[in-house]
Amino acid sequence: MAQPPPDVEDDSCLPEYRHLFHPDLLRDKVAFITGGGSGIGFRIAEIFMRHGCHTVIASRSLPRVSMAAEKLAAATGQRCLPLSMDVRAPPAIMAAVDQALKEFGKIDILINCAAGNFLCPAGALSFNAFKTVMDIDTVGTFNVSRVLYEKFFRDHGGVIVNITATLGYRGQVLQVHAGSAKAAMDAMTRHLAVEWGPQHIRVNSLAPGPISGTEGFRRLGGPQASVNTKVLASPLQRLGNKTEIAHSALYLASPLASYVTGAVLVVDGGAWLTFPNDVRRLADFGSFSAKL
Ligand code: NAP
Repeated sequence: MAQPPPDVEDDSCLPEYRHLFHPDLLRDKVAFITGGGSGIGFRIAEIFMRHGCHTVIASRSLPRVSMAAEKLAAATGQRCLPLSMDVRAPPAIMAAVDQALKEFGKIDILINCAAGNFLCPAGALSFNAFKTVMDIDTVGTFNVSRVLYEKFFRDHGGVIVNITATLGYRGQVLQVHAGSAKAAMDAMTRHLAVEWGPQHIRVNSLAPGPISGTEGFRRLGGPQASVNTKVLASPLQRLGNKTEIAHSALYLASPLASYVTGAVLVVDGGAWLTFPNDVRRLADFGSFSAKL
């Protein structure tokens, strides 16, 4: 069986990376990556840079993206511009995109990776908690896509990859907020693919499964023993890693996917087909309420 590509658990660059490495694949492209300072977004930035791309990484915490940008530039020799921006605030997005365009003169690729998540039963979820996740994941994805469309993609074409999830496919327990938000993003992918295709803009979703070394998995994975049981019962019998998600984003963002638009690429080792969706987990949250 094929071995997974190398990865490291924390947000540091890969010590060696030769898998399918092709420095011309994204040569001199520029990618704008929300949530690029950590986890999956960080690894997407790294793999894109190792394939010739320059990147802009944007999230709320300037120290987080600045530290990440230093690591990424040192490891890859490509340029990385860190910017502070909340995807819920259109004026801040406009300012960030202006700054990126001033720095690089263009943006070719947008990766909408910023998100927030936690476990909570629907009955204990505050109105504000549900709205916050919708605002960051769904509204934030629209906001950034819309700003980039107006400021660059409408006239020059582009590629958008929305990082979603499989949570809504079977109504995953404790995940009504994130499952609804990501399902709406998948719908948005299709709407934007239809409306913006004539301007040479491709729009696709990438839905990861459980990915090791990420904040998302730390928050949602549950106790180690139960994770191991669930993972071993899934078709590929292991967690995915961030490099595997980044390789899939690389495919969707690159000319290799030139005829792919409006699609959802599920990258989960087949996990959503078999992962437990156990209502007994609600019992663990008997007296729980979301703090947001
Ligand atoms: P992560 O490291 O927590 O990444 C989330 C990023 O989003 C952070 O860098 C955060 O930075 C940024 N962010 C949050 N709110 C923001 C806001 N309002 N404006 C701008 N940036 C914001 O988590 P991850 O686990 O790698 O997840 C990355 C993506 O993959 C998410 O879309 C997630 O839903 C998806 N996903 C992950 C898994 C998994 O197993 N990990 C599975 C399925 C899908 P700041 O705090 O600095 O803003």
